[in-house]
Amino acid sequence: MTGNRTFTMIKPDAVENGHIGAILEKITAAGFKIVAMKYTQLSLRDAKGFYAVHSERPFFGELVEFMTRGPIVAAILEKDNAVEDFRALIGATNPAEAAEGTIRKLFATSIGENAVHGSDSDENAAIEGSFHFAGREVY
Ligand code: ATP
Ligand code: MG
Repeated sequence: MTGNRTFTMIKPDAVENGHIGAILEKITAAGFKIVAMKYTQLSLRDAKGFYAVHSERPFFGELVEFMTRGPIVAAILEKDNAVEDFRALIGATNPAEAAEGTIRKLFATSIGENAVHGSDSDENAAIEGSFHFAGREVY
């Protein structure tokens, strides 16, 4: 059985480039309901914790620096088959390899600065959602 929630962040590059509105429009037009949302900025500790799975990768320092350099939009999204459908909507990690019409194809600039995050499993969606939101902030 697949879950009906995923977690996303509009990353600092997309916020800096003025794409918050356009990205939210793509998300809602694709049938996702926003059940929680906030405009916030990750601390160093937040970013290191959030991406701990990548801590041994050569790009980890760059990733943490990027994710903390400005505000982000964090949101929990609801739709049938949310995790898989949202990964399809955002496209491949590297925008050069992302399918036409995907959010990363439209708004990302590089593999590092790729506009949006999408959870990769139901389990991580739940962990990442609770990292950013208290129960009373989810509607
Ligand atoms: P995300 O988890 O942010 O949704 P993803 O699941 O598509 O992205 P991951 O493999 O989880 O990709 O990598 C996490 C993030 O680390 C990427 O979104 C990107 O910002 C950065 N990253 C991944 N690979 C590279 C790389 N080779 N060089 C630079 N940054 C990278
Ligand atoms: Mg990932």
